[in-house]
Amino acid sequence: MSVVRRKFGWTDVEVPVLGQGTWMIEGSRNKEQQAVEALQLGLDLGLTHIDTAEMYGNGRAEELTAKAMGKRRSSVFLVSKVLPSNASYDGTLRACERSLNRLGTDWLDLYLLHWQSRYPIKETMRAMETLVTEGCVRFIGVSNLDLDELKKAQQALRHERLVCNQVLYHLADRGIERQLIPYCVQQQIAVVAYSPFGHSDTPSSGSRGRNILADIARKHGRTSRQVILNFLTRNAGVFAIPKASQNKHVRENSESTGWQLSESELEAMDQGFPAPDYDVPLGIL
Ligand code: NAP
Repeated sequence: MSVVRRKFGWTDVEVPVLGQGTWMIEGSRNKEQQAVEALQLGLDLGLTHIDTAEMYGNGRAEELTAKAMGKRRSSVFLVSKVLPSNASYDGTLRACERSLNRLGTDWLDLYLLHWQSRYPIKETMRAMETLVTEGCVRFIGVSNLDLDELKKAQQALRHERLVCNQVLYHLADRGIERQLIPYCVQQQIAVVAYSPFGHSDTPSSGSRGRNILADIARKHGRTSRQVILNFLTRNAGVFAIPKASQNKHVRENSESTGWQLSESELEAMDQGFPAPDYDVPLGIL
């Protein structure tokens, strides 16, 4: 079954609940070839939201993304990010042009400020609006912004609306469930969960959480990884972008949507992986 799609934020665009990350896909020829093939398999399976950034491998991840997309550009929801150090007005325009060249395309579906910059947010957002006017970018988003920063980014936009905040969200870091997710849902800003497996910080074997995951997975005839992705995207406003360079991981991840955890299973997840009961600073990798 193909990955479930949902309306992305306030837009009418349907985007798969699960996308594909591209951080650290560059390296040896073999490693890159494997990563490109995995991205292509992901596209076949409906994981058509691809997340990249000028930062990843100094642009190499964007080149590999272009290779993976091949002639399928128009069926991809393509996302890239400007580095904060480039996020002046002119710097953002130039960074976007370089990304488009590396990606071999004329437009990005979504362009994000990678994290808070020393340049005033108004300047960066003005550049983002210029990019939309010029047809280089369809939608504007941010990444790693906490609630206050997010509100400032929203206010900085004059003609466009912010569509997404891409943030760290995994079982050991559920802080965004307290304020950020509810605010984004209310504002129709898509929350995109990065590092949904904690980058490499999955529950250790024999731990209570790991056993809970395994029990739930067994009941559904699924795997623990599938339960994790299903759980993180249980709210209709949340998407996730796991990175997988192994075909078997891509296949496994692609089967994580289209089924539901029961109330008692959600409670068990809360027991095993409690969300904080006080406000915590936004996590960042
Ligand atoms: P992640 O997705 O949490 O974890 C990636 C790791 O999980 C890889 O080692 C991968 O292995 C493994 N994996 C994937 N599926 C698996 C499966 N089914 N079973 C077992 N292992 C599996 O880590 P991430 O790369 O940090 O985050 C995902 C994406 O989010 C990034 O690639 C990037 O696009 C984005 N991101 C954004 C920011 C930001 O600041 N905006 C920060 C970090 C990440 P293999 O590769 O060997 O398959």
